[in-house]
Amino acid sequence: MSTPAVINDMKYLYNCYMKEFIFAFVLSLMLNTTAYSEPKKIAILYDEVFLTHFTGENHPENAERLKAVVSDLRKNNELVPHLLWPPIKDIDKPILELVHDTNYIALVEKEVAAIQDGEITYLSTGDTVISKNSLSVAKKAVAAAINGIDGIMNDKYESAFVLSRPPGHHATTSRGMGFCIFNQAAIAARYVQDKYSLKNILIVDFDVHHGNGTQDIFYDDASVFYFSVHQHPLYPQTGRPEEIGFGNGLGYTLNVDMQKGAGDNEFQKVFAEKLVPIMDKFKPEFIIISAGFDSHSGDLLGGLEYTDKGYKQVANLLKKIAQKYASGRQIYILEGGYVPENISSSTQAILSVLKK
Ligand SMILES: [Zn+2]
Repeated sequence: MSTPAVINDMKYLYNCYMKEFIFAFVLSLMLNTTAYSEPKKIAILYDEVFLTHFTGENHPENAERLKAVVSDLRKNNELVPHLLWPPIKDIDKPILELVHDTNYIALVEKEVAAIQDGEITYLSTGDTVISKNSLSVAKKAVAAAINGIDGIMNDKYESAFVLSRPPGHHATTSRGMGFCIFNQAAIAARYVQDKYSLKNILIVDFDVHHGNGTQDIFYDDASVFYFSVHQHPLYPQTGRPEEIGFGNGLGYTLNVDMQKGAGDNEFQKVFAEKLVPIMDKFKPEFIIISAGFDSHSGDLLGGLEYTDKGYKQVANLLKKIAQKYASGRQIYILEGGYVPENISSSTQAILSVLKK
């Protein structure tokens, strides 16, 4: 019995096209597999120049703060495959001017330029020690945050952690104080709005001290929500719960006092009960975290009792907010923290949450 013509036609078509089809199918699987096997990583923004902001012999804000965390991160086998250490590209002065007055920037330039090798002095605006390299270090710290934002927005990094010094959250538009020169977190917020046209930005600050500079910069601004949880009473004494913003910014600043001795339960509870419900209304498109580990138990300057477990819980909660509203976009920027081992262990705890 001869094969019906229709079957012969099907065999002919199979011979002609099936090989090409199978080849295309396998190729597409390979391409997908290649893309899947390389998930985005977490960028650690660090540069050795950060060690050269010399603050004198017994100052708590010193280079040792960064050495332990950098060395421990490079040895952490669970984290190493998830981390990138990109070089930090410098920024131009207009980026500083997104937040700071030109007169203030000129003042820092002038005062630092007058310092001799090995000499230290105070910035005339407040209690911030400066030395010969302080201006270039402070600019590099801002650049680190900006590089992190660019990498996240251009889909190169999953998230970013800036390990820089000096800290920034006490710096106002026109005044460096509290060990701070430029306000990295505030500049990062303005930059992500300015360059990438994102509107609603959340800044979370869990340093033991209130970030008076950040609050001041955005006090009348409804596009940047500032949430600070800090010990009270403590330097700089601002951040009372009744400070809730002004004008258009009314309701976009939220301060929570912590009593000396407060621990992980109180820490986590404040975020779950106060921040989460408000973010369901504010819907942040990018989250910037002023990560100060002087709220860690045993700190030299703080009196709170948070542990790595508490930072981990809070990081989990922030990650959920970021995933819900901000396509996962978040950057941690180191602020205070004066026991190097605590900065190291808490940073690793947070990174274990950020890695996929
Ligand atoms: Zn602090």
